[in-house]
Amino acid sequence: MRKLDTRTIVVASHNAGKIREIADLIGPFGFSAKSAAELQFEEPDETGTTFEENAAIKALASAKASGLPALSDDSGLVIDALGGDPGVYTANWAETADGTRDFAMAMQKVETALEKVGASTPDKRTARFVSVLCLAWPDGHTEMFRGEVEGTVAWPPRGSQGFGYDPVFKPEGYDTTFGEMSAEEKHGWKPGDAQALSHRARAFKIFVETCLNA
Ligand code: IMP
Repeated sequence: MRKLDTRTIVVASHNAGKIREIADLIGPFGFSAKSAAELQFEEPDETGTTFEENAAIKALASAKASGLPALSDDSGLVIDALGGDPGVYTANWAETADGTRDFAMAMQKVETALEKVGASTPDKRTARFVSVLCLAWPDGHTEMFRGEVEGTVAWPPRGSQGFGYDPVFKPEGYDTTFGEMSAEEKHGWKPGDAQALSHRARAFKIFVETCLNA
């Protein structure tokens, strides 16, 4: 495992929701970070078929463009009753004809697909959010950190916090969706905390504990 011995990195993302959450997570560690969006890097095509492949594509593109280590996130919602869909294609389900993203539409698509297979009760609507963080260096070296959180798909959508599919994801053991949780509740984590809740915070915890030189 290669350690990260600089605090100057690029957050290899163009997704405002992810950038905000990663900024919250790296905040306590004294990073100086710019996002790929801020640096106006081109968004690479996500041609992989796994979270790991797509995370590596994004992190390597930013590391090579900047000459700095880059941290990416590839994530998605994996629904058992849909054979793992939307999975790595979670963002694609939100794409509209004019190239923008509409998550109300995407959540409705998920619901329609679940209705089609008769998944009407929580036991048939089990799902997990997956996040793979990839740290890439300009020389092409990569390290991966995977976090997952189990839950169920709720309907109708509830709450306006967070981003993406948060209003329909109810983590196991909670009565609220991610959309109804504060940022602190969804993805707050700092060293010493036994566990993090969100998939992204769980992956970040592994990154800190294994790869970050104190
Ligand atoms: P990608 O990683 O850029 O391919 O996109 C991941 C997709 O999963 C995006 O459409 C996000 O909206 C969705 N997603 C990933 N993490 C979260 C989350 O924490 N909350 C809600 N949606 C998420």
